Amino acid sequence: METSIEGVAEDAGGGAQPAQPPVAAGPAAVADRAGVVAAPEAAPVPMATPPDAPVPVAVPPASLSPSRAGDFMQCPLLYRFRVIDRLPEKPSEAATRGTLVHAVLERLFDAPAAERTAPRAKALIPGQWDRLKETRPEVGELFADDPDGERLARWLTDAERLVERWFTLEDPSRLEPAERELFVEAELDSGLRLRGIIDRVDVAPTGEVRIVDYKTGKAPRPEYAEGALFQMKFYALVVWRLKKVVPRRLQLVYLGSGDVLTYDPVVADLERVERKLLALWDAIRLATETGDWRPRPTKLCGWCDHQAHCPEFGGTPPPYPLPVRPAGSG
Ligand code: SF4
Repeated sequence: METSIEGVAEDAGGGAQPAQPPVAAGPAAVADRAGVVAAPEAAPVPMATPPDAPVPVAVPPASLSPSRAGDFMQCPLLYRFRVIDRLPEKPSEAATRGTLVHAVLERLFDAPAAERTAPRAKALIPGQWDRLKETRPEVGELFADDPDGERLARWLTDAERLVERWFTLEDPSRLEPAERELFVEAELDSGLRLRGIIDRVDVAPTGEVRIVDYKTGKAPRPEYAEGALFQMKFYALVVWRLKKVVPRRLQLVYLGSGDVLTYDPVVADLERVERKLLALWDAIRLATETGDWRPRPTKLCGWCDHQAHCPEFGGTPPPYPLPVRPAGSG
C-alpha cells in the first residue's frame, strides 16, 4: 500500500521553518491515537475487552512500527507480551490525554485558517473526549472512581494547557498540512514492512517535506535526543522509500515543556536507520522462532503493565502461543 504525501500545503515561512537547536531528552513517549486507521500491527489490547470479543489469534509479527521497534529495544519480553501474546493493558491518564490532544490538534485544521485559534481548539476538547469514549469505551473507566468529577476536571484542564501551549510553538493559521494522521507503509528490499502514523506532513511550495510529530510529554535531555529522533527517522525512511524524497526536516513539538526539536536528515541517516531496523528485525525473527524473549529490566519497568507475568518480578509468562525451534538449530 502506498499513501500519498502530496497535497496542497503552504507554510507562511515559505517552507521549512528556521532550524532550532535540539533540546534535551528522555525516552520518547509515543502518544496513542484515537479513531485513526486500523492499528498498523498488533497493538496493546485494552484491558476492558468485552467478554464475548474473539480471543486474538497469535501470529508471527509481519511488520514493524516505531512503537513496537521501541518496545523491542526497551525490553524484548515486553515486545512479546504486546505483539505475540497481546496481553491486555490498562489505559493511562497520560496516554489518553495524549490521544485527546492529538485529536484536537488534528480536527482544528478542519476550520478555516483564520479561525484556528486557541479558544476554538479548547472548545473542541469536550466533543473529542466524548468521541474518544465512544470509540474506546475502556478510557471511560479511568474516571469511574471519580464521582464528583474533580479528577476529570483537572485532567481536562491539563489537556487545555497542552493545547494552549501549542499556539506558542506553532501558528496553525499559517499552516495548511498536506496530511494529518497519515498512515504510511513501505516494504524494504529485504521484505521488511515498515508502518506508522505520521501526525502531520507539511509540503512547502518548493516541494520540501516536513514531518511533524506532537508529543504531550516534555522534551528529552540532550543525551536522549537521538532516541527521540529515532521515530522521526523511521518515518523519514518510509517516506523516502515511498516517494523517493528525503524529507527536508523532522520536527518534534513537545507540548509538555514548550520545546521544538528539529533535525534535517540526509541519506546517510536514513541508510543507518534502515540497517538498524534490519538488525532489529533479525533479532525479532530469531526470538519469534525460538521463543527466547529476554526481559531487560530498567527503570521503565515501573510503567510496565506486565510485571505479574515477568520473571524479573517473580511472574511467569503465559504459555508461548507460537511453534518454536530450539535456539541454534537453524
Ligand atoms: S517488567 Fe520490565 S523486564 Fe518485565 S516485561 Fe515489563 S519492561 Fe520487561
